Amino acid sequence: MGKLIYLDNAATTRTAPEVVEQMLPYFSELYGNPSSIYDFAAKSKEAVMKARGQIADVLGANKEDIYFTAGGTESDNWALKAAFEAYKDKGNHIITTKIEHHAILHTCEYLEKQRHARVTYLDVDENGIIRLEDLEKAITPETIIISVMFANNEIGSIQPIKEIGMIAKEHGILFHTDAVQAFCQVPIDVNECNIDMLSSSAHKINGPKGIGFLYIRKGVKNRSFIHGGAQERKRRAGTENVPGIVGYGAAAQRAAASMEERTKKECELRDYLIGRIMNEIPYVKLNGHPQKRLPNNVNVSFQFVEGESLLLMLDSYGICASSGSACTSGSLDPSHVLMAIGLPHEIAHGSLRMTLSEETTKDDLDFTVDKLKDIVQNLRNMSPLYEDFIKKANA
Ligand SMILES: *Cc1c(COP(=O)(O)O)cnc(C)c1O
Repeated sequence: MGKLIYLDNAATTRTAPEVVEQMLPYFSELYGNPSSIYDFAAKSKEAVMKARGQIADVLGANKEDIYFTAGGTESDNWALKAAFEAYKDKGNHIITTKIEHHAILHTCEYLEKQRHARVTYLDVDENGIIRLEDLEKAITPETIIISVMFANNEIGSIQPIKEIGMIAKEHGILFHTDAVQAFCQVPIDVNECNIDMLSSSAHKINGPKGIGFLYIRKGVKNRSFIHGGAQERKRRAGTENVPGIVGYGAAAQRAAASMEERTKKECELRDYLIGRIMNEIPYVKLNGHPQKRLPNNVNVSFQFVEGESLLLMLDSYGICASSGSACTSGSLDPSHVLMAIGLPHEIAHGSLRMTLSEETTKDDLDFTVDKLKDIVQNLRNMSPLYEDFIKKANA
């Protein structure tokens, strides 16, 4: 096989070699348990503390408010389930959106079915952004938490987080955001945005898989989620994933340091890719907000094309992309996000997500668009719907 063109960085990223290098000593040299009291173990404890600081710095947070977890999914589960329990005397109402990651949506469904939660799923507009009036209207005296993702993993749309934080604060309601896609891609200040809880995951920012954190602002009542030892200030038991935590700290520091320059370059490449596709391929639609979108996200729908076939053909050229979200590939249902922005089924089925990285080059994108043009035309030539459409257009 030729060169791999990896355009699926919203699914996961390459762990940066310098991140791996910083992790390595914590496997077989400095393997002490951070909870042990001898000097050897203190090295592990210090490494965990250092990583906590590196991450807190990116968010303008206190490092005591960073709690390590096993990833974005666990952080999302923890934020909702534990807050729901801790605040049940106040009420049972949760406000979220229709375009959240399944880690939020399926947790909400669980709380509805098993814990008698009442959940409002806010609509989004055609660009994938919530309307603040809808949020205001949904608030009741029983509302205990608002959970709105910072940026969407499929269409890249970025929510008005600061405004949402203000509304939550005015009403004395907890505000959680799933920032797995936004962390180190968009500047975030938890104080400026009145964020009470924030989820993130290392493997989306060139860190290792299986390590994440939940930011919990001091004063937020949030029960422990995993019971056992006293790790993570008694809120998340279990021996720390020291190499993972070290890798996360290193990845966060690295990605924050390069954020401005990297995202500027990604935005240019992103807009170049969008421009070429829109100009050179007919019957195509851009999904997500044209400007308020992640620097590395491109999501387009090709009419008269099956997204899965498109992916297979791209794969034959070594191009990795995604049709919906990674979790739903394999299922025939169109993505809930594309449904929420109002795409008809047949258009949603022809969707393609390409997410760039710092390593993506213009040449990669030129190669991709050149192949894409041929593939889309070939697939359309096999489509009876396209044939009908062309006949009608020429009639
Ligand atoms: C990837 C992702 C998650 C899940 O994170 P994991 O670390 O893979 O469990 C949650 N939310 C969003 C928006 C994501 O993109």
